[in-house]
Amino acid sequence: MIFRVQIYNFLETIRIAFQKSLRGEKAIAKSEDRYNRRDICFSCEFKKGYFKKYYRCTSCECLIITKLIFTTSECPEGKWGTLDY
Ligand code: SF4
Repeated sequence: MIFRVQIYNFLETIRIAFQKSLRGEKAIAKSEDRYNRRDICFSCEFKKGYFKKYYRCTSCECLIITKLIFTTSECPEGKWGTLDY
């Protein structure tokens, strides 16, 4: 049940990003922000996996490399938030 909620939350993040994109707002995070998020995630205790490409967050079960991309994504543990530009 929790896993379904996590998937739902991630799909909701993508849906909001898509809506932002339709309004002409930025839905994709700038490289600098993605790198900042990545550095936090890659040194996080919730990170799991052997290959960077497939690292997962055990808090939200998201694929980290995908989660970093959207401005509407946020860390479930409050380590980084959404981006508004
Ligand atoms: S999203 Fe948050 S909890 Fe998950 S790995 Fe990244 S920093 Fe850690």
